[in-house]
Amino acid sequence: MSVLPEVLKANESYAASFGEKGKLALPPARRFAILTCMDARLDPAKYAGLAEGDAHVIRNAGGRASDDAIRSLVISYKLLGTKEWFVIHHSDCGMQLFDDEIMSNLLEKSLETATIDEKGWHDHGHGPGSIHGHFIKWHTFKDLEASVVEDVKRIRSCRAISRFTASIMT
Ligand SMILES: [Zn+2]
Repeated sequence: MSVLPEVLKANESYAASFGEKGKLALPPARRFAILTCMDARLDPAKYAGLAEGDAHVIRNAGGRASDDAIRSLVISYKLLGTKEWFVIHHSDCGMQLFDDEIMSNLLEKSLETATIDEKGWHDHGHGPGSIHGHFIKWHTFKDLEASVVEDVKRIRSCRAISRFTASIMT
């Protein structure tokens, strides 16, 4: 059963109380952006003290500096004037629980949701799966701190933004 009705109801309530925030300017008022993980336990607005209109928040699995994350950061800077970026990863990240081989093998078996226990990942689907996972870089990591450094280095080395400073905050 879909959660769509719950989401629509919550959005209706949120929109009804949006008020003057509808007049906020497009560029983020506090001139910064955060690249962080999509983990459901993370609330960037709370952990970074954000209100609507304050900052850009770019999220993906792991908070990695993927090509698409860099695309968003470049837009954030070039067109919307952010002056500082933060790469924020977190402890107990799910991206430390698998690697490219595990993911692609699970996908090859079936497209159903896998589970994990103390023995590792298990696939329960009947297939057919997909071989496409073998052609995707999943950007997993083993070392949390090294992953932040790697992402900041990648952002700094991007030619479009090489003069820009990325800040590290873990
Ligand atoms: Zn995570």
